[in-house]
Amino acid sequence: MTVNAIATAAYIIAALLFILALAGLSKHESAKNGLTYGIIGMALALLATGAVVINDATGGVGSGGGLAIVLMLCGVVVGALIGLQRARVVEMTGMPELIAMLHSFVGLAAVLIGWAGHRETVVVHLGEGYPQSLWNIHNAEIAIGIFIGAVTFTGSIVANLKLSAKIKSAPLMLLGKNAINIGSLIVFAALTGVYIVLDRHETGVSGTVVLALLTAVALFLGWHLVMSIGGGDMPVVVSMLNSYSGWAAAASGFLLNNDLLIVTGALVGSSGAYLSYIMCQAMNRSFISVIAGGFGIEAPAAKGEEEQGEIHEIKADSAAELLAGANSVVITPGYGMATAQAQHAVAELTKQLRAKGVEVRFGVHPVAGRLPGHMNVLLAEAKVPYDIVLEMDEINDDLASTDVVLVIGANDTVNPAASEDPSSPIAGMPVLTVWEAKDVIVFKRSMAAGYAGVQNPLFFRDNTQMLFGDAKDKVEEIVAALNR
Ligand code: NDP
Repeated sequence: MTVNAIATAAYIIAALLFILALAGLSKHESAKNGLTYGIIGMALALLATGAVVINDATGGVGSGGGLAIVLMLCGVVVGALIGLQRARVVEMTGMPELIAMLHSFVGLAAVLIGWAGHRETVVVHLGEGYPQSLWNIHNAEIAIGIFIGAVTFTGSIVANLKLSAKIKSAPLMLLGKNAINIGSLIVFAALTGVYIVLDRHETGVSGTVVLALLTAVALFLGWHLVMSIGGGDMPVVVSMLNSYSGWAAAASGFLLNNDLLIVTGALVGSSGAYLSYIMCQAMNRSFISVIAGGFGIEAPAAKGEEEQGEIHEIKADSAAELLAGANSVVITPGYGMATAQAQHAVAELTKQLRAKGVEVRFGVHPVAGRLPGHMNVLLAEAKVPYDIVLEMDEINDDLASTDVVLVIGANDTVNPAASEDPSSPIAGMPVLTVWEAKDVIVFKRSMAAGYAGVQNPLFFRDNTQMLFGDAKDKVEEIVAALNR
């Protein structure tokens, strides 16, 4: 059997493992197995690809073959070292930025592969003996691959900068922004047409100019699309860029004639698109509007941090008393629980309350924290039983009959303005209706607004009490008070 045949078999197994990985990741209980399948699949894919490269390099290219192997190994070693280091130091709260940055690499790789394909067209083959129809397909692959890759590249860089607060998260509202986006698409389509029909027997200079223009348009479009989307919609943007990076990889797969890249890219592309769709539904956002760079969305009025009445404060000891006397408690965690690393203290509090006969459940909003599933991961890490961790839709109807809701570092996801104030920037986003409970205790350090930058009327309600301080410290104080 040839190396290529073995590699093809390995690719099929790897593709199956990736499908099993996605299936595993869809449930808490099977997520670890899913990850293991994914890791084995990726290791297999890397080994098979390495074997093909080495085989090709040693089997004919002569002295250049050794260099190709050395370059490939250098790339793998340097990439693996940087990846390991970043994964080791990244905080859970920095994951969305990291993911956005990784998507930008996939986009850049697709652009470079497209350009390498173009170089092959003009330098290596020069069109001799290659039917025109195949040239056309090859050129279309190059143009489309570069386009998706370049949009993903700049879009992901902007998402990274917005998520890490290095640039303003408010949407950029250029005059005629929709016309700019549609115009860019039309220019791309026209340039692709020109590039496809260009005569390959020429020196290739004109093709290079057209492709450079096409790349510039796509880089601009990626930048503009994500700049036009506000911070509140960033979760959807990250998952949409995830989808784009998959399609960019699939496009590269066509160019490189690599079936596994096509299958894997399509898996990432379609699962990312589906996740974006689910998140849009969870946030009551129009899917089309978000992927079209905020099409039809007007700039929200800045509502800032204005105070909205009186607040009631509570101390940890009184909170412990209230909890000890409750029959039912719901905990709604948010980004603040992640920054405070309060999940273990929260798990301990849950254990203590349950031991006292209090019914404790969790209500998790689909976009709580800074990446999909953020809260679920933290609670699983702290060994909170899966069966008491419920989705927003599963818990919302029970909140009115709940004695105490603990809002631990959540803000936008429990903001009543989303359903009560049509002028709010987060209007229409479904939220956890915590204010319907008998008592609400909000854990946060100050009166600062949440991610979307809007004040939260929940904090000024009569049944809400504010427990100011770091969430971990305050939960630990409550646990200590319960034990006294
Ligand atoms: P928010 O980001 O709205 O609010 C977090 C709250 O935590 C803040 O009010 C902050 O108040 C408080 N906080 C921060 N640090 C601490 C600490 N150490 N101890 C106690 N409190 C703390 O949180 P939500 O989870 O409710 O909402 C998530 C937001 O992020 C949504 O707007 C969502 O759209 C967006 N988003 C979600 C993504 C996702 O995929 N999940 C990705 C990107 C954005 P204070 O500073 O006063 O302490």
